[in-house]
Amino acid sequence: MEAYKELIRRVREARLLGSCAAVLGWDQRTYMPAKGALHRAQQLALLAGMVHEQTTAPEIGGLLDEIEGSELVREGDSAAAVNVREIRRRYDRACKLPRALVTELARTCTLARDVWVQARRSSDFALFRPWLEKIVALKRQEAESVGYAGAAYDALLDDYEPGETSAHLATLFSDLREELVGLVAAIQASGRRPDNSVLHREYPVDRQEGFGRAAAAMIGFDFAAGRLDETAHPFCSGIGPGDTRLTTRYDSRDFGDAFFSILHEAGHGIYDQGLDPAHYGTPMGAAVSLAIHESQSRLWENFVGRSRAFWEHVFPQARRSFPEALADVSLDAFYYAINDCRPSFIRVDADEVTYNLHVLLRFELEQALISGDLPAADVPAAWNEAFTRYFGLTPPDDAQGCLQDTHWSGGAVGYFPTYTLGNLYAAQFFAQASVDLGGLDEPFRRGEFAPLKEWLTTKIHRHGQRHRAADLVAAVTAEPLSPRFFLDHLRAKFGPLYGI
Ligand code: ZN
Repeated sequence: MEAYKELIRRVREARLLGSCAAVLGWDQRTYMPAKGALHRAQQLALLAGMVHEQTTAPEIGGLLDEIEGSELVREGDSAAAVNVREIRRRYDRACKLPRALVTELARTCTLARDVWVQARRSSDFALFRPWLEKIVALKRQEAESVGYAGAAYDALLDDYEPGETSAHLATLFSDLREELVGLVAAIQASGRRPDNSVLHREYPVDRQEGFGRAAAAMIGFDFAAGRLDETAHPFCSGIGPGDTRLTTRYDSRDFGDAFFSILHEAGHGIYDQGLDPAHYGTPMGAAVSLAIHESQSRLWENFVGRSRAFWEHVFPQARRSFPEALADVSLDAFYYAINDCRPSFIRVDADEVTYNLHVLLRFELEQALISGDLPAADVPAAWNEAFTRYFGLTPPDDAQGCLQDTHWSGGAVGYFPTYTLGNLYAAQFFAQASVDLGGLDEPFRRGEFAPLKEWLTTKIHRHGQRHRAADLVAAVTAEPLSPRFFLDHLRAKFGPLYGI
């Protein structure tokens, strides 16, 4: 059908243009000299404007009108039907946003980001407060423009997690919260603690790089179609077929920071490398959602990379790479150290057990910000109150409290829940893979990770956006998303470590 061909041509072209911006963005965060910032910002703004123009062109609406209801999209999960469904979703959302609002949000967030950096540095919430107020007001306008059935927050959440609602999350997360608070309390009360100083001995950076690169390759990241470079805040950029960029940062006195971020980003990268290149540029060749992307990174980082079976294979190699640091360390001591669970103030440093409590707290507060129940001025007090309720600790200052994350300053409201959703999806996928593949510990002990990677590619990556996240997990595991798998995983792992 000519209209469909033309629609796909236009959508692909916009994606290609977007991928040019992705190369520039990757360069900006890795190798660009500091003085190039202004010129780069101009390049990126130009490209963003062009991509926006292409994706909201009235011709796309006309083509969609022509195709919808035709024979071509009759089968709901055919590639054409999926592409049309998702292109329509994105097109309608983009067209509903007034241009003035988009520009104002972009301008405000660029300025707010700089103020937030200063505010965090000096732990001065008052400096950031007017910007947070402005961003919340703009995000409310965004929600009103897009429209929603339940809460205004849902319109923002939907941008990251299509089809997800705050009412569904509230149910899912309330069971999780109760169990996690209990588990953290039991771990604390056990009085046991690993000696995590073994991870803070001297680990020369060049050897960390080689070791991390080998681990990423071992779990299945293809370096002929990707790279690993240094940055300040690790990320993965899927530029296009055959080109996926991982980044990390190294600290010679911290083994875990670089190693686990490499596994995490490689998990994202393996997803990008597993997408079907024949569908590049269309929804059938794109990741489902942020939560499903995060499920892939966390699966490799935590379910594989922090498992005992993985280290039974890898620890002897680690000892050879870092003999000075690890000669007198046993596998058990090392495994315990990388699974150190203790409440802390900073989300990005949190362990597998406490991590989700950080996210649930943010989910609670950002819903109240958008509904208007929580004025921006009251965020520090509300944060500290909630933190004490969840962790039994009170942040000493706002830099270690409500100012620690960059998300709100960048206008990303509704993003946080995707981290915890990612953990829940990861647990449920991993449990199913383990059943389907007849157990994973044995292959891991032998250093065999290809069966798991193949399973993920076949069941998840290759389908692009055929299913929304909730439907995908139901299709792959034959039941709806449940926190049970994640909680079972935590109990099975941390129970023996802490004797609880
Ligand atoms: Zn991630």
